[in-house]
Amino acid sequence: MTTEYVKLGVNPETDAAHIARAAEIIRDGGLVGMPTETVYGLGASAFSAEAAGKIYAAKGRPSDNPLIVHVSEPAEAENIAYVSPLYYKLAAAFMPGPLTVIMPKKDTVPSSVTGGLASVAVRCPSHKYARALIRAAGVPIAAPSANRSGSPSPTTAQHVLADMDGRIEMILDGGPCEIGLESTVIKLTDDGCIILRPGAVTEIMLARVCGTVEIARAVTDPAEAGEKPLSPGMKYKHYAPRAEVVLVEASDDVFEMYVKANIAPSEAVAVPDDLAHRFVGLSTLSAGQTASATAQSHSLFALLRRADEIGCSRIYMKLPPASGEYLALYNRLIRASGGKIVHVT
Ligand code: AMP
Ligand code: MG
Repeated sequence: MTTEYVKLGVNPETDAAHIARAAEIIRDGGLVGMPTETVYGLGASAFSAEAAGKIYAAKGRPSDNPLIVHVSEPAEAENIAYVSPLYYKLAAAFMPGPLTVIMPKKDTVPSSVTGGLASVAVRCPSHKYARALIRAAGVPIAAPSANRSGSPSPTTAQHVLADMDGRIEMILDGGPCEIGLESTVIKLTDDGCIILRPGAVTEIMLARVCGTVEIARAVTDPAEAGEKPLSPGMKYKHYAPRAEVVLVEASDDVFEMYVKANIAPSEAVAVPDDLAHRFVGLSTLSAGQTASATAQSHSLFALLRRADEIGCSRIYMKLPPASGEYLALYNRLIRASGGKIVHVT
């Protein structure tokens, strides 16, 4: 099939026409690459088992890995899930935004959308084009990240095109994603919640609303073989470029020495822009700013994809802290590296 690629934000009238066309594709059971504030999604009607099947096929994703269902208003969760008062407290604090809440599923959602689970993951994105598309489609949109399974998530429409050209009906280009890492995924418990995947809504932010906040062990320790994780997605290798990712746990000075002693001509070092002057003459990949988890999150997936584009065989990166605003970054990096960390003192 030919993938229709359209740029939004050029003219409000053509935007409305492009979104109406994308909505029609979704209603007809097709697939649309769509911008959100986290990463680009691969959207399809959440009410169609057949459309969910097309998502799994386009991504090459195992069909037991459930999809997140996107709504344009928090209250629309009632159409797909049994919603609790805590959901509405969380919605008041964080929605629309980068938070996904797992709740018991209603029969309106085919079980193929939820990977056979009795629960459904619900998110209300804040991106204006994502919300406009869901509203225009008139159905909730099931959307995983719009990458081929296992590769880094797409944070620009060009990334989506690189992975999905010829496999989906349409791509809406809404510019680069603001956040750059996927949403925080939580499961509600009797007295709070468990973080299954960390994102821009952090543990501290959730604790202000939720009471008790737990972090699933697999967030910081890649799940052991044979273990049944709380979230099926946590058992797969994720976000990995073809290049090997070597995470180095060290101070800035020791990291610099380690890289200079080990780097080969086909290899690159990922460095925050404020430290780039230390690595002049080496192949570097821009990694945001040392003091900004937001800037590092924003550039991570583009950096991993760039490494493959330039044919780099190995990327050296400093390991971020496994806490606070850096937890989401840490989680994606240990998955991209397959859990390999070099400790240098
Ligand atoms: P992605 O589709 O790439 O954004 O990933 C969605 C993540 O949410 C995956 O890690 C899924 O395993 C997880 N997820 C979605 N639905 C559920 C659910 N019902 N129960 C547990 N985890 C879920
Ligand atoms: Mg994904």
